Amino acid sequence: MNCPRCGGMMTGDWFLDLQDDTGRFHFEGLRCLVCGEVLDPVILHNRQVGTKGIPGRRRRRLSPAGVF
Ligand SMILES: [Zn+2]
Repeated sequence: MNCPRCGGMMTGDWFLDLQDDTGRFHFEGLRCLVCGEVLDPVILHNRQVGTKGIPGRRRRRLSPAGVF
């Protein structure tokens, strides 16, 4: 897989997250060898979902004054 930011080569790596509140301290992800971009399974999932949008939720555009 190539880095979505710079197109560089990505490699699998283990990361430590001491502030993770799910009880896990480390996770496996991908790190770009060129720019250091980190992708973990949650980021990848959210980016895939984000391209499709969430059904039933649409952004509402505010009028220029911010009032409808
Ligand atoms: Zn990169």
